Amino acid sequence: MKCTTCGKKAVIDRVYEGRALCKDHFIKSVEKSVSKTIRKNGLLIRGEHIAVGFSGGKDSSMLLYLLRKLSKARNLKISAILVDEGIKGYRDVSIPDAKKFCDSLDVKLHIVSFKKKIGKSLNDIVKKNKDDKLNGCTYCGVFRRKLINEEARRIGANKVAIGHNLDDEVQSIMANYIRGDILRGSRIGAKAFVAEDEKFVPRIKPLRDIPEKECALYCILKNFDVDFGECPYASESFRWSVRDVVNDLEEKYPGTKFNILRTFDRILPAIQNTVKTDKVIGKCSVCSEPTSRDVCKACELKKLI
Ligand code: SF4
Repeated sequence: MKCTTCGKKAVIDRVYEGRALCKDHFIKSVEKSVSKTIRKNGLLIRGEHIAVGFSGGKDSSMLLYLLRKLSKARNLKISAILVDEGIKGYRDVSIPDAKKFCDSLDVKLHIVSFKKKIGKSLNDIVKKNKDDKLNGCTYCGVFRRKLINEEARRIGANKVAIGHNLDDEVQSIMANYIRGDILRGSRIGAKAFVAEDEKFVPRIKPLRDIPEKECALYCILKNFDVDFGECPYASESFRWSVRDVVNDLEEKYPGTKFNILRTFDRILPAIQNTVKTDKVIGKCSVCSEPTSRDVCKACELKKLI
């Protein structure tokens, strides 16, 4: 297989757009696409401090690298925040490499742990709560979002960048659609739901137009020492089932993922209009963090554990 652009040996056959690319053209194409997402959605402003939600995995490593690359021209300060959920055999083994990766980019890494901030590791939470209907990802997602927001605020970041790729974004769209959760659906986008509250650090997703496989290929071609392992709790989540269905559809009908994303982006203003009253955010009566509920989800879950 040859690169459609230059005739060199191709490293990828992008069936969804009908062209093959060599290493150089693939890397250029991915970087151009990320820059376009940033520009089109106004994700970065000169001089900002961006905190990258960093796990040491392929997506967040690629994101950290690309933002660091852009940081000089845009006068950005880049930091990384890693949440140690306390997942034995997974997170503990990836932290040393994550530290090395940040050092290689000269990025300061801030580590916050469930154990210190929530009082228990995710392993302990899941063990103790094995009889309830919630899986590890439910606790993990809620606590992690809260801890990243708090840490980003503490270090004075203007925005949190997260490594959600095309697959993650499409899974979120479909999962919320299947659950009928319009409010959560209205928060999906390149700029994830900007609440008008000084305690809420806005979240941006520069990789949302890059398929997961291409994030992996980018890291391999760039020789990043990243962790490609899967979290042991991932396969228990609802998102995992959605992922299988969407991957099946993409296999049979290439371009499905992009079609889902583009269609969603077109109807998003109408969805946001439908739920606009929910944007009025209040404070959690327990922890005072921003929430649209009386007691935020994190405090509600904390009670269970
Ligand atoms: Fe947390 Fe679930 Fe992700 Fe594992 S797969 S890190 S439990 S959200």
